[in-house]
Amino acid sequence: MNHPSSITLCEVGLRDGLQNEPTILTTDQKVEILRGLVDAGFKVIEVGSFMHPVKVPQMANTDDVFKAIGGEIPGVQLRALIPNKRGVDRAVACGCKKVKLNVSASKMHNIKNLNRTPAESVAGFKEACDAAAAAGIEISGSISMPFASPWEGRIPVSDVDEIIEAYLNVGINEISLSDASGMATPYGVYDLCSHVREKYPQCTWWLHFHNTRGLAVANIITAMAAGMTQFDSSFGGLGGCPFVPGAAGNVSTEDVLHLCEEENIETGIDIVKIIEISKNLKGMLGHSLESYILRAGRSKDLIAAKSS
Ligand code: ZN
Repeated sequence: MNHPSSITLCEVGLRDGLQNEPTILTTDQKVEILRGLVDAGFKVIEVGSFMHPVKVPQMANTDDVFKAIGGEIPGVQLRALIPNKRGVDRAVACGCKKVKLNVSASKMHNIKNLNRTPAESVAGFKEACDAAAAAGIEISGSISMPFASPWEGRIPVSDVDEIIEAYLNVGINEISLSDASGMATPYGVYDLCSHVREKYPQCTWWLHFHNTRGLAVANIITAMAAGMTQFDSSFGGLGGCPFVPGAAGNVSTEDVLHLCEEENIETGIDIVKIIEISKNLKGMLGHSLESYILRAGRSKDLIAAKSS
């Protein structure tokens, strides 16, 4: 099966992972994790979000984390999730250079909550995009639940196209397809990824999978077969989705790194260091993290132990 010789991973544990934890980490703890991720080789990291601090208190110190590191780390792209133009303003104030907007692909969900279609929501992002352009901040967009949603099941491809075109209209061509509800399936992923790559060659794509039903790694494999090369993952498989009942964490970083190690797909990231970070989070969060590799270890280590 086709697969790329190398992929880029974005660690989203500091945002998607920690935002669902009852324990709120301090700025110093987050900076320590961030430095560890950079040391392990990550070149793209989602540091936090600029959502309303009352709604997402776990992310309220994102501004302080950016300030603590002077806004940037050379050679590493640090991004934050934002809800609207106010998020751009906060990014400017703390030195963050890259932000990401998000819209739900579910028409029913969007109309119920915001009284407009997803494409209309994206058109409303123009103000944020203009502010980002004026400030020299890079801006990208995410589409959550583009494969399927709890409200309508499979999302029609034409609905996804409409949202992509709305993003292109406001000047965004870096787009993340985010299976927040964990309902994507491998062949559906292959079909949608093949479709969007062919129809929108001007776009750069990210794929974001949750392992709610155990299909995240399989979805990554078929997305790679369709030519995708950029994926989000979270240390220890941390994460969830506040809107979806029973939602589980993101695909675990060490599980994706292990897949890549076994299949000779270059990531530039040291899996041993990531396993250490995931293990050490137990001390900060008060519970151990769940991933296949934390439980079972690497295949390589098993072979080495048996043959020595
Ligand atoms: Zn997520």
